[in-house]
Amino acid sequence: MSDIIQLLPDHVANQIAAGEVVQRPASVVKELLENAIDANATEIKLIVKDAGKTLVQVIDNGKGMSVTDARLSFERHATSKIKAAEDLFQLNTKGFRGEALASIAAIAHVELKTKQEQDDLGTVIVIEGSEVKSQEVSVTPTGTSVSVKHLFFNIPARRNFLKSDTVELRHITDEFHRVALAHPNIAFVFYHNGSDLFNVPQENYRQRVVHIFGTKTNEKLVPVEEETEVLKISGFVGKPEFSKKTKSEQYFFVNQRFIKSPYLNHAIKSAFEGLLKDSYHPSYFLNLTVDPKSIDINIHPTKTEIKFDDEHTLYAILRSAVKHSLGQFNIAPILDFEQQSSFNTPYIYKNKSASTPAIEVDRSFNPFEDDTSSKNGISKKTNYNSDFKSSPAASWESLYVGLESKGNNSESDFSEVTFESEAKTESIFSDSLIETTKTTFQLQQKYIVSTLKSGMLVIDQNRAHQRILYENFLKHITIQEATSQQLLFPLQLHYTPNETKIIKDLKANLEHTGFVFSKLDTKEITITGVPVGVPESEVSIILEQLISDVENDVPDSNFSASDLLAKSMAKSLAIKNGQSLNSTEQEHMVNSLFACKEPNVSPTNRPTFITMAVDDIEKKFM
Ligand code: ADP
Ligand code: MG
Repeated sequence: MSDIIQLLPDHVANQIAAGEVVQRPASVVKELLENAIDANATEIKLIVKDAGKTLVQVIDNGKGMSVTDARLSFERHATSKIKAAEDLFQLNTKGFRGEALASIAAIAHVELKTKQEQDDLGTVIVIEGSEVKSQEVSVTPTGTSVSVKHLFFNIPARRNFLKSDTVELRHITDEFHRVALAHPNIAFVFYHNGSDLFNVPQENYRQRVVHIFGTKTNEKLVPVEEETEVLKISGFVGKPEFSKKTKSEQYFFVNQRFIKSPYLNHAIKSAFEGLLKDSYHPSYFLNLTVDPKSIDINIHPTKTEIKFDDEHTLYAILRSAVKHSLGQFNIAPILDFEQQSSFNTPYIYKNKSASTPAIEVDRSFNPFEDDTSSKNGISKKTNYNSDFKSSPAASWESLYVGLESKGNNSESDFSEVTFESEAKTESIFSDSLIETTKTTFQLQQKYIVSTLKSGMLVIDQNRAHQRILYENFLKHITIQEATSQQLLFPLQLHYTPNETKIIKDLKANLEHTGFVFSKLDTKEITITGVPVGVPESEVSIILEQLISDVENDVPDSNFSASDLLAKSMAKSLAIKNGQSLNSTEQEHMVNSLFACKEPNVSPTNRPTFITMAVDDIEKKFM
């Protein structure tokens, strides 16, 4: 048989490469803007017509190209940015593959105008489908202008595949935001069909964020600054009350390059833990600076994913820096109770005083040596909803139901209840550490404060409730006691194949908590029953939380499916900080917490309460 292998002609190779580099007009915008930045431009103009389908043009005042370079720039693997493979580990530029211009020129009509400062005349090159149509000397300003017209003119299938102008323009705007946010020191103008959508001068980072997201953004921003040996962080997170239902305001830049990182995103989410409503996402605009040697940006053709050498450390530093900022701005408690030993700072906090917090946490403290869990309500079938009053089976509540009925004047009822109430109080507080259950109040809608004989008890309401729900779920899952409530209408949910697989893997566990699936395949998940007390509206939140917990493989979790499920469900359903609780609910929380096997810590091993001894309080008055 004769030889059959041949080398692809360049224009074919370029078209194939274009498939990777150029998915839509927004990809052209990204590549051209990045080239302008690499050319050290200080002013960049983006001109777009018909959402980029007719024209994408980028004009910069950067260093321009010589005649030879102008011609060479359209060759594949032609780049001025690296010379040897080692340079890949010292990248300070956006581009380095030398593919963008060659790819774009293979599938569009391109006109390049460029001039270097020292030259009087510049170069104009016209290329259509990799074919050079003309090259001339011309009068043109210093810098470069690249116009890309009729994108995909020679690949009708790709052209037809483009979405509506609205959608394509949104993609372009997203790219523009990313580039403009990463470079506040560059002025940008962005025109679409003749009107300017953005016009931002050279400015500082806060001004840039505000210019792009609107004046109202200013009051929402909480600065985050941290500098360690391995990582510098600067930027902002949005105050929790301005969090969004969508993830549209989440920006990480690593060495001024926009990246996506579910893992680092998780670090931020966990710093916000307890401060956000379910299914709300924090906003952030964070610049991370790391040694270029410690990252590999080569793993993705469009370069939005990168690999870090030491992700775990970055995770810990980021989380702690964001928590610290939220604390400093009085958004979260200043004391970082949540420091886990595994996250203990592997770096030096610069410029931070080493004074220890005045409150000492006695983790071993447990005022209730007697095991009262069997008598205490939460271990029964409970309404997981935050409204404690509506949980009929919680024995604790029955006391107050009785007291309320006092007004209705049913003597016998009342005496019975009073008796039960005393008995209850006796049994729980037999060692009289807590003076009376009536002395609780809520602080900042976050903490439940109660008095002890020896001092004061402060409970974190969100974590405490997580602990209560967690133990309850875990019990159901492990003893396989399904308590299900049937839905009136089956709930249909759709997930990606990956996500569906996660649910499938956990199906048995989910069923033990009370979920009933009538269908569970890649196209659709149909749920006909849910655990008793779980509102239908929470179901998708629980499943999404579960998926994201599995996907993100939280660094401290020693993975066990039932444990993870119980944790996720507890996290989704626990009452949040910011929710006010009446005194009945507060006391119920206190009692239920101390009926738990491990009341001291949340399911993720963080303290659920602290105590302060009278001695310590007295010392403060000296
Ligand atoms: P890469 O950016 O990966 O090097 P490109 O195909 O995007 O590859 O560009 C090829 C080369 O053309 C660049 O390395 C650069 O030298 C030159 N170039 C492209 N755009 C500009 C510009 N706006 N100003 C100056 N030089 C440019
Ligand atoms: Mg480039």
